[in-house]
Amino acid sequence: MSVTTTVLVLPCPLQGHVNPMMILSQRLVEKGCNIIFVNTEFIHNKVLSPMGNQEAGVTGGSSIKLVSIPDGLGPDADRNNLGELFGSMLNNMPAMLEKLIEYLRLKGGVTVSCIVADFVMAWALEIANKIGIKGVLFNPASTAMLALQCSIPKLIDDGIIDTHGLPITQKRFQLSPTIPPMNTELIWWANISDSITQKKIFKVIVHCMQTLELTEWWLCNSTPEIEPGASSFIPKLLPIGPLLRDVAEEKSLGQFWEEDHSCISWLDQQPHGSVIYVAFGSITLFDEKQFKELALGLDLTNRPFLWVVRKDSDSSNNVSLPSEFRGNRGNIIGWAPQEKVLSHPAIACFISHCGWNSTIEGLSNGVPFLCWPYFADQFFNRTYICDELKVGLGFDSDENGLISREEIKVKVEKLLGDENIRLMAHEVKKKLRKEIDDGGRSSENINKFIKWLKE
Ligand code: UDP
Repeated sequence: MSVTTTVLVLPCPLQGHVNPMMILSQRLVEKGCNIIFVNTEFIHNKVLSPMGNQEAGVTGGSSIKLVSIPDGLGPDADRNNLGELFGSMLNNMPAMLEKLIEYLRLKGGVTVSCIVADFVMAWALEIANKIGIKGVLFNPASTAMLALQCSIPKLIDDGIIDTHGLPITQKRFQLSPTIPPMNTELIWWANISDSITQKKIFKVIVHCMQTLELTEWWLCNSTPEIEPGASSFIPKLLPIGPLLRDVAEEKSLGQFWEEDHSCISWLDQQPHGSVIYVAFGSITLFDEKQFKELALGLDLTNRPFLWVVRKDSDSSNNVSLPSEFRGNRGNIIGWAPQEKVLSHPAIACFISHCGWNSTIEGLSNGVPFLCWPYFADQFFNRTYICDELKVGLGFDSDENGLISREEIKVKVEKLLGDENIRLMAHEVKKKLRKEIDDGGRSSENINKFIKWLKE
């Protein structure tokens, strides 16, 4: 009798981590695995409300079961404070995860045979090791960022960063001859402006990196096709990207906000290659002045635009549109089915904060970028998009640190008039799609992983 393999998937409680791990879960279900998808209670409730069901992605008898454990913070705690959140999870969740696995076995008759842990949750690999099951890392960011994290001891030894992870002086450095040079300004954990949060996050990274020795595989949502140097730098890496949703699916699993699908019929009415898609992921917040410049800049382009303005429940993102804003060529929505949007023929370009998922999704659809990074690894991703892959342009700030409405208009015109960028974006798309076609490197890597899981 064949026994179905049950994999416990543990994402960090952020949208950009839940999404790729949900897509990975769907791939594993298609290959006959059962998934126990463990969110924190707080995120579990968000994910369930757009979905309305705890059993999802059922394919031929296999399924994704959504369950939760507490993150250790009180009900009113500020979960946008990532230092507090990561620290609390590290202190409180390991014992609860162990209990959950025991409960599933005793009460549900389910034996978990492997934990796939997000990088931030890599402490879970210690649990896997302790109870004698397999453990695997999932890296939701670029491979270059993982290579940077692997190099922390060397960066300290070389006097580039101090023991809190902060650059000692501003300088360029290179992790290996094949990885593009980096600048200390691009060290993602050092870009966190609040110093207490920065130190806490760095401590969690160091702890997680030590835990990674316990696992054989480091899965990542990338491919050597776009990150050759960083991919060969990490011996345990198993690239399985790009992880993309099936755009034919009616609803995307794992979304924290309800997707507004009306934008697709709106896009259907726009000419091919005409619409500017504007979205800054799940965390970015704008101040009033910058929000106004963006709104008026979109007006000034005189092109159709689809703009995602999140309505966060804690009202932290409640900026209002300026009175001069016309917006008559635009469509503003609260949350987009992003991959459906990016694959729509009406899309001309993507004004993006350059989160790694948005980057991978834009690249896989051949969409040129206008890069507007906000924090952490997004600055590195901008450099990667503009200088390495050459599929986008960055914005320049004015003397007040603002990206002006005129700058937005100028860069939109420049990008859309640049035939080379358009061709390069198309090339990158072709390369990425090949990786996940049957026989492609990433799809073979998933098969290799499944074989190991089932051994
Ligand atoms: N996303 C979405 N609809 C939106 C905006 C974003 O579905 O309106 C998804 C996007 O497809 C991506 C994720 O949210 O999978 C955001 O992750 P990313 O790494 O780009 O940014 P983060 O939110 O982590 O800053």
